[in-house]
Amino acid sequence: MSAGIGSAATGAQVAPRFRVAICGGGLGGLTLAATLARHCSDIQCDVYEASSWISTAGAGIGTWQRTWRILERLGLDQGLVEKAFSPPKPGKHTALTLRRSDISDGGFNFYDLVAPYGMTPLHRADLFDALLRSLPETYTVHTSKRLSAYIMSEGEAGSVTLHFADGSTATADILVGADGVKSKTRAQMYADLENAACTDEHLGRYQDPKWSGIIAYRSVFPTAELLARFRGHPVAFGAVTHCGKGKSIMAYPIASGKMINVVAYVSDPSKEGMPFPRKWETPATSEEVLAEYEDWEPQALAIIKCMTQTSAWAIHVVDALPHYVHGSVALLGDAARHSLRYMCAHASTPYIGSGVGQAMEDAYILGRLLAHPATNYGNLAEALSVYEDARLPVANAVVQRARRAGRLYQFDLDEWYDGQRGPAERKQLDALSDQVYRQFEWIWGDGPDVAWEEAKNVWEARSCR
Ligand SMILES: Cc1cc2nc3c(=O)[nH]c(=O)nc-3n(C[C@H](O)[C@H](O)[C@H](O)COP(=O)(O)OP(=O)(O)OC[C@H]3O[C@@H](n4cnc5c(N)ncnc54)[C@H](O)[C@@H]3O)c2cc1C
Repeated sequence: MSAGIGSAATGAQVAPRFRVAICGGGLGGLTLAATLARHCSDIQCDVYEASSWISTAGAGIGTWQRTWRILERLGLDQGLVEKAFSPPKPGKHTALTLRRSDISDGGFNFYDLVAPYGMTPLHRADLFDALLRSLPETYTVHTSKRLSAYIMSEGEAGSVTLHFADGSTATADILVGADGVKSKTRAQMYADLENAACTDEHLGRYQDPKWSGIIAYRSVFPTAELLARFRGHPVAFGAVTHCGKGKSIMAYPIASGKMINVVAYVSDPSKEGMPFPRKWETPATSEEVLAEYEDWEPQALAIIKCMTQTSAWAIHVVDALPHYVHGSVALLGDAARHSLRYMCAHASTPYIGSGVGQAMEDAYILGRLLAHPATNYGNLAEALSVYEDARLPVANAVVQRARRAGRLYQFDLDEWYDGQRGPAERKQLDALSDQVYRQFEWIWGDGPDVAWEEAKNVWEARSCR
């Protein structure tokens, strides 16, 4: 191990306990770096980000109490409270209203999802800013470093060699792939697992994401514009999912209520798994989006008419992975699932607002395990396997819930409601709402503290053997 890091207390150079390379400077990768920084000062951490800057672009993210708990543990909550539209507050609060909107002469609200502490929308940029500020000077975020391959070795001189697209290399004792849905780390891990496999399972199929059949139109615009178009628009005051057959529009205020974040989804389940023929992300016009929703009610159309700067994202997903870890390489966040995925998987879907939250829970549990005093150069692979056992089943289950929630919003689960209007509609929507609630229930169950206690107990028992 050649590099040293400065001791926070004395400034003296000491050899690091081990070196962590994080591939990807998204919210997952930066949360891992922040967790390491918060819980120890003797691990070297380098973040390698493909872009030439850490992109804070994007929009709003809805955070629940369990994600907020991680921000508290990282000491970032205070700075974010003032930027949040509705900071978490004790008691139960309406987190999300569901409304039927695919009716031209006026829709109707059919459900208020009430949650402990409510839901706290944040601007992605605020979260990036808080995480980046929390990193010590001894951590380096390397930009324009696109991982193209890695080689795991057994030797003393570094367990993993990273190769970048610019021809440079770096070494580390472990590599964490936090490189998003198109993860190069996942692609190589599954190619390696396929080559090494002792089973008949075709592990190579997990290398590449596939199209979910969904296009998501994303935009952020000033709240004042929406209110000028539609006086008293409810989205200026809280989160609303406008539901319709095969389509839904999720919108909520961010940036202390000054801006509206919106994602409008158009789904074609028959195209799930087909190759997407164009670039995954392209600009879209308001007219293009309006054409998809032409029969919808004025409240929904007012939102779409404000979407003058919009990008269309083809939502890609990854099948639920059987492994998050191989040797000294681990995956987290969207690399291990993908977000919007038909609403799914860590590449999980945005339908229950948990992609970032799950990426952060991965990062928090992994970071705590690595920072634990029992973790050292010699038992890193074992620590990673405790991470996998703790996170894989939970995160894969969340992906399934997100997927199901999306289908419920879009009246695509016929056993609950198929979107037909008629005398039974209200009763069916009540049953559907009950199902929606069930997809969210886990969110206010045991949070990351309990998960960490469990993982810690397992690790302490194993590492002391
Ligand atoms: C429309 C939409 C709405 C969403 N809404 C919510 C929400 O309300 N709440 C919520 O919790 N989540 C939401 N999500 C999900 C959330 O955005 C993601 O789950 C989250 O950003 C995942 O973080 P990540 O760090 O794992 O991956 P990413 O954010 O994708 O970051 C990956 C990083 O790795 C970099 N990278 C990629 N390849 C390489 C490489 N080869 N070498 C080096 N670096 C590389 C990328 O440039 C990027 O910076 C939403 C997602 C979408 C698409």
